Amino acid sequence: MIDFCVLGSGLSGSTIANLLNKKYSIEIIDKAKGIGGRSSTKKINKKVSFDHGLQYYSANNSKFKRYLDKLIKKRILKNWEGNHIDFTFRSKVNSQKIIGVKGNNDLNKYLLKKIKKNLEKEIKIIKFKKDHWELHGKKYKFKAKNIIITFPFQQTKKLAKKYLKQHFLGLKVKMKPNITLLLKQNFNQKIPISSIKIKNDIIAWAANENSKKRFSTKENYWTIQTTNSYSNKLINIYKKKKKYFSNQIIKEFSNILDLNQRSFKAYKIHGWKYSYNDTYSGKKCYWDKKFRLGICGDWFIGPKAEAAWLSAKNLYDKIKKNPPK
Ligand SMILES: Cc1cc2nc3c(=O)[nH]c(=O)nc-3n(C[C@H](O)[C@H](O)[C@H](O)COP(=O)(O)OP(=O)(O)OC[C@H]3O[C@@H](n4cnc5c(N)ncnc54)[C@H](O)[C@@H]3O)c2cc1C
Repeated sequence: MIDFCVLGSGLSGSTIANLLNKKYSIEIIDKAKGIGGRSSTKKINKKVSFDHGLQYYSANNSKFKRYLDKLIKKRILKNWEGNHIDFTFRSKVNSQKIIGVKGNNDLNKYLLKKIKKNLEKEIKIIKFKKDHWELHGKKYKFKAKNIIITFPFQQTKKLAKKYLKQHFLGLKVKMKPNITLLLKQNFNQKIPISSIKIKNDIIAWAANENSKKRFSTKENYWTIQTTNSYSNKLINIYKKKKKYFSNQIIKEFSNILDLNQRSFKAYKIHGWKYSYNDTYSGKKCYWDKKFRLGICGDWFIGPKAEAAWLSAKNLYDKIKKNPPK
């Protein structure tokens, strides 16, 4: 039986799996088709891809900054160059924006290179059996001596409630939603903008995928993130009227750029129900040696990938100090 099953291939799952793999046998399980979680890259053909979750890595923590620099040297990550325009004037001007060389799940791929991945395997029930775990999905079952869950807070609580201590169940974590639109724009001219942050009722941020220099096409490709209030209002209903809401966002975006609305085509509208938590939960991770259950994720610490990495590192240190028998 393997030592650890890590549930989730986002940055916290990929980081903890990579660290534990030095000493233990590890497998990753994820319900999605590809790895990366909210750091997801959507390929629409052989050439073109969208980063439709995480937009870029940035670092406040000096250890995370050094880690990103190391990965830039290894050519896993690179700087996202060009004009990043911020009409909200809230963030640090010209702050470094780091992206994957091929896609924003490159880092996850790199971390999980040597680890067995079980994709499209949603875990619905977990059962602790004295000295090991059983993980159940539709038509499959996994066994492991220990498990690490890295889902957003609400999903973790739902799956593991029976085994969680009161202090975890009582954490106040409210993750915000985000509705994201992937767009193609037929316009035979390069737009000299890498990203735009704006004050608008519908649109908060637009990323020009062409500016990442991963592909070269005549058309422009955009990833549009909507505002928190717009996403909150529509997250539970947008699926019923995808075309309508896609057109509403396109109309707003074409007005902002002063371009013909008909030059845009929507590829996909996606609602991230648990996009980020912008407060600190008061804990960095969770490790219960008795139940051989660990939990880490960005939401413990903050809204960004940096928080996912820090939470996973914290959990690894806890397991090292207090290892399972
Ligand atoms: C739209 C959007 C934009 C963002 N932009 C940025 C940004 O610019 N910069 C930044 O630093 N951060 C950004 N973030 C946040 C960043 O993506 C996250 O902080 C980070 O990816 C979280 O990683 P994680 O491993 O903690 O969680 P996740 O990436 O959510 O990983 C959890 C994994 O668990 C899997 N899973 C869930 N339930 C099950 C189940 N029952 N069975 C099996 N698998 C399951 C999921 O498929 C997922 O792969 C953004 C997030 C979103 C949604």
